[in-house]
Amino acid sequence: MSPTDTQEAKMFCFQCEQTAKGTGCTVHGVCGKDPVTATLQDLLVHATKGLSMYAHRARALGARDRELDVFVVEALFTTVTNVNFDAERIAQLVCRAAALRDKAKTLYESACKKAGKTPEKLSGPEVFQPAGDLAGLVAQGHEVGILARKRALGEEATALESLVTFGLKGAAAYADHAQILGQSDDGVYAFFHETLDMLAREKPTADELLGRALAVGETNLKIMGLLDAANTGAYGNPEPTPVRITPKKGKAIVVSGHDLKDLEELLKQTQGTGINVYTHGEMLPAHAYPGLKKYKHLAGNYGGAWQGQQKEFDAFPGAILMTTNCIQKPRDSYLGRIFTSGLVAWPGVRHIGDRNFRPLIDAALAAPGFAEDAPEKTILVGFGHAAVLGVAEKVIEAVKAGKIRRFFLIGGCDGAKPGRNYYTELAEAVPEDCIILTLACGKYRFNKLAFGDIGGIPRMLDCGQCNDAYSAIRIAGALAEAFGCGVNDLPLSLILSWYEQKAVVILLTLLHLGIRNIRLGPSLPAFVTPAMLKVLAEKFNIMPISTPKEDLAAALAGR
Ligand code: SF4
Ligand code: SF4
Repeated sequence: MSPTDTQEAKMFCFQCEQTAKGTGCTVHGVCGKDPVTATLQDLLVHATKGLSMYAHRARALGARDRELDVFVVEALFTTVTNVNFDAERIAQLVCRAAALRDKAKTLYESACKKAGKTPEKLSGPEVFQPAGDLAGLVAQGHEVGILARKRALGEEATALESLVTFGLKGAAAYADHAQILGQSDDGVYAFFHETLDMLAREKPTADELLGRALAVGETNLKIMGLLDAANTGAYGNPEPTPVRITPKKGKAIVVSGHDLKDLEELLKQTQGTGINVYTHGEMLPAHAYPGLKKYKHLAGNYGGAWQGQQKEFDAFPGAILMTTNCIQKPRDSYLGRIFTSGLVAWPGVRHIGDRNFRPLIDAALAAPGFAEDAPEKTILVGFGHAAVLGVAEKVIEAVKAGKIRRFFLIGGCDGAKPGRNYYTELAEAVPEDCIILTLACGKYRFNKLAFGDIGGIPRMLDCGQCNDAYSAIRIAGALAEAFGCGVNDLPLSLILSWYEQKAVVILLTLLHLGIRNIRLGPSLPAFVTPAMLKVLAEKFNIMPISTPKEDLAAALAGR
């Protein structure tokens, strides 16, 4: 049975900001995810919980297995918005989860034997056995999806459980990038298993779930630190770097997503071929890393944030590589020259799983390339924690002298929904004695505007990808230390945009750090119930964005 044969399958997904009607995708994902894929993703999370129930218990007895750890991270990342749209591949992962669950069970039982203990009798996801065909898997998925959870747990508990699950998915994305570059932490894997085990339990309490959500944020801070160490260890600390945003004459490849290792391998393999490599979307910060910018054919940045890719790739005269989220349904015009790597998948799109980019290079050589150089224009990137803290004294002096009145962190995910021009209008309206820190693809709303500088300090500092929220947190921490106050007492306003689960986990990290007064837009998550919002508002004064004018006035007044 093919995915299309089961299109009548019910779905419910509300994990991202563009969810249908602001409540949930029920017929087909606004992102392009079909009901079968959505249901299989739910089943994959369920099967992974079963694996973790045993892995968690085995670990308590000192037995670990790296294959189990890595798989859990990859499986969760696979279910993040705009990563994998291929039902067949997700079905294979469900079966692999069940096979690895058996491995985890054996690991646990032999650890028990060694320790002279009787294995616990478990119930729930650990008994899952995948059906023999796609229709059967979809039927199993319906039993464990959000609608089934709501029936079993009620609205509030499902909302809290979703907050934890979606945060964990976002954290998994960062953990995967770090593990690809050789950085991992055993405590992080233990946390993933422990949290999935907790979610597998029948009825965790609201307090347990809220506490766990903040713990996910705490672990994510550690994971973002690992990823920072992975990126800077492999490629050096980002340096302020002008990046060309207009094309150069010649054959071309554009690389999108977040995976710097894929970009590096491609740069090595395209050396001497005459192909210029361009970054797209969240790959832009790559230009600031010494270990990547040393490649002279890393020619520039092409296009904007992920949601413009269909039009931009259509017009791109070369080949395209999607390394991680966020992929959209490819148009026929470029279906033959787009490739995926890593965990990304779209049915019918050629996948390169081994970093041998020869087919991509051949597609680029067969395409016309840019006919001529466009007039050169550049933007400045590379303001990670090392670069900003390197000029910390200058920044602190400027604050003390009243030359810098306030910092605005305006960043996060971009998206397709109308209303996101709020962020452009807000950035434009920020007074000239204020600095804008930004990160993630939300910056494309304003990163080509001229903001000038304050005594040589650029007024817009691009910290990097969404995971470089870690840099923003380090910068805020260093400023707080210099001024002898808490981060909440700094002249700093956080006005964030969210789209998918990485943004959810960054928000949880900020809440774990006790950061208050965050403004969030363009709309609040559909899985946040009024009761949950009340708790978050009371504890953290988190609030929805209103208008640029009102929010700016409130922020300048320290509210
Ligand atoms: S990921 Fe977002 S757009 Fe896609 S199905 Fe889920 S809620 Fe809808
Ligand atoms: S910041 Fe979020 S929305 Fe933007 S490309 Fe990265 S994952 Fe996608």
